[in-house]
Amino acid sequence: MEHSLSPRLFGLLFDELGMKAGYRALKTRPEELGQRVQSVRVGELGGLSVTLPHKETIIALLDELSPAAAAMGAVNCVASSGLRVLGHNTDGPGFELALDRAGVKLAGARVLILGAGGAARAAAFSAAQAGARSIVIANRTPARADALATDLVARGLAQAAAGHRAESRGAGGVSSFGPGGQLSLHGPATSARSSAPAGVVYVLPLSASALAEERADILVNATSVGLDSSADPLPESFRLDGTHAVLDMVYRPLQTALLSRAGAKGIVAIDGVWMLVYQALEQLRIWTSRSVAADLAARLHSKLCEEAG
Ligand code: NAP
Repeated sequence: MEHSLSPRLFGLLFDELGMKAGYRALKTRPEELGQRVQSVRVGELGGLSVTLPHKETIIALLDELSPAAAAMGAVNCVASSGLRVLGHNTDGPGFELALDRAGVKLAGARVLILGAGGAARAAAFSAAQAGARSIVIANRTPARADALATDLVARGLAQAAAGHRAESRGAGGVSSFGPGGQLSLHGPATSARSSAPAGVVYVLPLSASALAEERADILVNATSVGLDSSADPLPESFRLDGTHAVLDMVYRPLQTALLSRAGAKGIVAIDGVWMLVYQALEQLRIWTSRSVAADLAARLHSKLCEEAG
């Protein structure tokens, strides 16, 4: 949290809109979380942005959740309505708007998500709701990917991929994925937003051998690999040929190793600041009911990027 870009981002945003408002980082221990929520309830704070490690534990302290926050089981934005305190999740809209701005559509796409934490959840739920053809969740810890895929299927947003054999792709030893590496759950083939049948979801370990035969239209890095480093979360042998777009949620450094690799291949490369900006605009809308001009996102993006050097 100490290195969060959000205070600067909201500072720029309030300046742009001529709003007399402040936004600051409040270091919060778990035992202080209730007090923060109470500050919103009584109007001492206009709202909260919530970061790790509180995104899930805060839920028990809230009165209501938005459908997105309830589906994802994670809250990153808190607002009040009368004396009730509501939890929202704006990472999903931020993710989708960042893709949309670059002309990249999730509907019908094969989406490969690296990671299975909160950010990956937002990407996976958005992709499923937007009608992605397939969603592959590749994570270092298989059980976490499994839990995410299971949630998508249980909510009727995706179908478990029948006959997908992770083991035949050299991903041996992934017993938590079920027999043959496939998810064992089956859910109704309905999608909340798309009229297309629900896409398929499957999980893989985040390894060169498991991903060797995978191809993706849209590749998303939702791991923290690359944060403050030149590490690339995508195995070197992965073939990006045919990939249309890469979105890296990591935004420090701005130009990650993964984005450089995508850019060198002429692939649409979307940095994490875009998602950060769009999810912040969604938080502003929740707190103030205020929508902003379409070009504001681009201005905020370029100012933040300039400052980041
Ligand atoms: P999280 O819940 O802690 O999840 C972290 C993910 O990274 C997990 O999948 C974890 O795998 C994986 N990971 C961590 N270290 C790894 C390593 N050495 N090798 C392979 N995988 C590794 O965090 P989160 O909230 O999802 O955030 C993930 C990243 O997205 C962070 O960098 C965050 O700053 C960024 N983010 C950006 C935005 C934006 O607006 N741009 C929004 C949200 C998040 P395991 O499950 O195996 O531990």
